[in-house]
Amino acid sequence: MADVAAAGSPAGKLVIRNIGLLLSGDLARPILDADTIVADQGRIVAVGKAKDVDTAGAKFVIDAKGCAVSPGLIDSHVHPVFGDWTPRQSQLGWIDSFLNGGVTTMISAGEVHLPGRPKDIVGLKALAITAQRSFDAFRPGGVKVHAGAPVIEKGMVEEDFAEMAKAGVKWLGEIGLGSVKAGDEAKKMVAWARKYGMNSTIHTGGPSVPGSGYIDESVVLEADADVIGHINGGHTALSLQQITCLCERCERAIEIVHNGNELAGLHALRIARELRQLERVIVGTDSPAGSGVQPLGILRMIALLSSLGDTPAEQAFCFATGNTARLRNLDCGLIEPGRAADFVFMDRAQHSSGKDLLDSVRKGDLPGIGMVVIDGVVRIHRSRNTPPADRVPAVVT
Ligand SMILES: [Zn+2]
Repeated sequence: MADVAAAGSPAGKLVIRNIGLLLSGDLARPILDADTIVADQGRIVAVGKAKDVDTAGAKFVIDAKGCAVSPGLIDSHVHPVFGDWTPRQSQLGWIDSFLNGGVTTMISAGEVHLPGRPKDIVGLKALAITAQRSFDAFRPGGVKVHAGAPVIEKGMVEEDFAEMAKAGVKWLGEIGLGSVKAGDEAKKMVAWARKYGMNSTIHTGGPSVPGSGYIDESVVLEADADVIGHINGGHTALSLQQITCLCERCERAIEIVHNGNELAGLHALRIARELRQLERVIVGTDSPAGSGVQPLGILRMIALLSSLGDTPAEQAFCFATGNTARLRNLDCGLIEPGRAADFVFMDRAQHSSGKDLLDSVRKGDLPGIGMVVIDGVVRIHRSRNTPPADRVPAVVT
């Protein structure tokens, strides 16, 4: 698998046919009236009914066998270190395990679990650049890990952000995990990061583990980071009144995580819906964390927000795909020409009480994954982690 990933996208046309349900990732139109996807060089080139798209000359053909296809899932909030290893819970292969949960893209909210993590400014910049380089060159199972997310510290100046951006750093780790915890100081650094094209996230709520910090709603509002990181706490949440205030008083992304308070997460979803701003809702796991790693965490968030959050399942999938892609400026997450050919093939899990995939998720069950494709390459067949799906796709050629 690593060799395939290193080799990049295959030349030649990929046709996926007999798709039973095509989830677009786009909240405005979450289900597409189409049964065929054509990709080339790892990019989607056409989507439509089989008779309407040019499928001639395909080098690779996948028969979806009536399964649902969704854009690859995006975990908006992870804490990788190096390789496919986490010291947090001494686990190997955790990213590959997430691939078996349909995750094709991950965004680092800081490499905070690195033993002996440097906190001096030269050291934290060096770590960010090294992590970016490392995960750019090494993709466990093919998963795209966007890492190199510095945890900002007091004393940083504009030139530090310019230097990191120039070196390829595109993200800020969770603000609040370092010594910058005051709103005015965070605001200044977020603005510098934004000026140089870096996307930022702020920790919200109580400390996650000893050594982490408390960030309340006034600091989140003043800092104005791109993403209200784990608005439902990681795990300790702000009060529901403060969460309402955050949703109402800014327009930034509302990130709900698995390693958080479920009641607070459902509350944030409800407020976003009342505001008619569901396009702001994105999901993550915030793993590895004290609560472990959650290979099926994104699927569990989709099932939670759909079943207990009164959300049609096809909309809940958008929280983990198109919404995140747009708010994080990623080239994946949507089924449309030009986007990365990252797909998850799913069907209703065997013996679910739901009548089909969407109904089963709406009833709180997880789907069964039958295949995952990243950049047009089949990375896994039937998932080793999800319940078995009723139907699974097959590679024809
Ligand atoms: Zn956090």
